[in-house]
Amino acid sequence: MSIMVKPFIIGTRNSGDYLHGGAKVLREGGSALDAIEAATRLVEMNPNDTSVGLGGIPNILGVQEMDASMMCGKTMAAGTVGALKGFIHPISVARKVLDHAPHVILVGEGAELFARVMNCEEGDLSTDMSRKVYDTFVRDAFDHDEIDESQQWVVNYAKSQNLREWYDRLADEHHGTVNIMAMDENGDIASAVSTSGTALKFPGRLGDSPIIGAGNYCDNRYGAAACTGRGELAIRNSTARTIIHYMEDGLSVKEAAFRAMKDIHELKSFGGMNCIAMDAKGNTISATTNPDRESVYYYMDVDMKESEKRIGITVSE
Ligand code: ASP
Repeated sequence: MSIMVKPFIIGTRNSGDYLHGGAKVLREGGSALDAIEAATRLVEMNPNDTSVGLGGIPNILGVQEMDASMMCGKTMAAGTVGALKGFIHPISVARKVLDHAPHVILVGEGAELFARVMNCEEGDLSTDMSRKVYDTFVRDAFDHDEIDESQQWVVNYAKSQNLREWYDRLADEHHGTVNIMAMDENGDIASAVSTSGTALKFPGRLGDSPIIGAGNYCDNRYGAAACTGRGELAIRNSTARTIIHYMEDGLSVKEAAFRAMKDIHELKSFGGMNCIAMDAKGNTISATTNPDRESVYYYMDVDMKESEKRIGITVSE
């Protein structure tokens, strides 16, 4: 395929300082897949990002369960992991699934077994900050005396709640995910998503990030799309695949993202949704359903020394 545009990489608001890792790969002639993995690994190592990798806020039991996915637009191969514990780079485990597994999604113990088979790096992702957020939650939510090793306190706590209202109340400040996508010198595109999911989520909960079509989708012919926000919404609407579908139907990438965010409003459910997307010609956009927040994403091509902040669209009800 001929060179269509200068190779570039884009990512969500928390990735601006890390896109250089992917741009370097692209500059050296590397693939979009390698570029997005490299940049995502850097975000995963940022201990101050409490929603991705190291320092991610744990689930209600105090355990960090990571979700991550990668998709290749050229082959439409995908690899994802969900509720993964104890591995430093969830995105690289997802990459191994993409490259080597006979399956697309692996979760929990199976994902961990696979990661060990693939010699992925094991380690503790908790930090003082992630432990503090959890301890504060436990202190606020529950009388410390009643906490025991058996997890019975969580059962008691959950029984005392309307679980949907409880989930609605979870603090948005600890939400987040990283979405990164790139186009390489062959015009091939790829997309990556990594997250610790909704802070203090119920154990075993999968968000949109490891669900191909919900939080991540990529097809060389049309483009790529990925999401952050309340994952349940993107799962219900198949948001990432829908954005690609809208482009396939002739909408521009901006119109497609706009319409997908309108669809989220139609669910009339709590929580917000955000997306970044690109088309096969290299046009890019981000969008949010949150009226109080500017939609921000970062862009870096191979000739740029640092990433550039771009403003997407806010889609009201
Ligand atoms: N989308 C992620 C999830 O639902 C979290 C987020 O982006 O805030 O797991």
